[in-house]
Amino acid sequence: MSDDGVPECLDCGACCCSAYPRHVVVRGEDHAVLLPEELERYTVWLENVCVLGRVEGRCAALDVRTGRAVCRIYPRRPEPCRSFARGSDACAQARERHRPLGTAS
Ligand code: SF4
Ligand code: SF4
Repeated sequence: MSDDGVPECLDCGACCCSAYPRHVVVRGEDHAVLLPEELERYTVWLENVCVLGRVEGRCAALDVRTGRAVCRIYPRRPEPCRSFARGSDACAQARERHRPLGTAS
């Protein structure tokens, strides 16, 4: 936990969790920059919309195996992820809805 009371993102990952299948839409250039194997592993098409897939309620691109929340496509993550601001109201809401990794019992 940092001084501002917000966890480090690597200890959290709450905003990478969702009950909503279209949690992150992958459009245009965001789709173009993903590697073929990343598209294969981490995205799905819902009707005619490409979205990030989910595994157990988490983004398919989120790796939690080490106990930290690591985005496997961080340099190429889509715009909704890039624009999501740590410490914002949306961040607080995500942490209310989905328990940050570092606080899991
Ligand atoms: S919910 Fe906030 S603190 Fe947690 S990973 Fe997302 S931006 Fe970072
Ligand atoms: S692409 Fe990365 S930052 Fe975006 S929801 Fe998935 S794991 Fe989180």
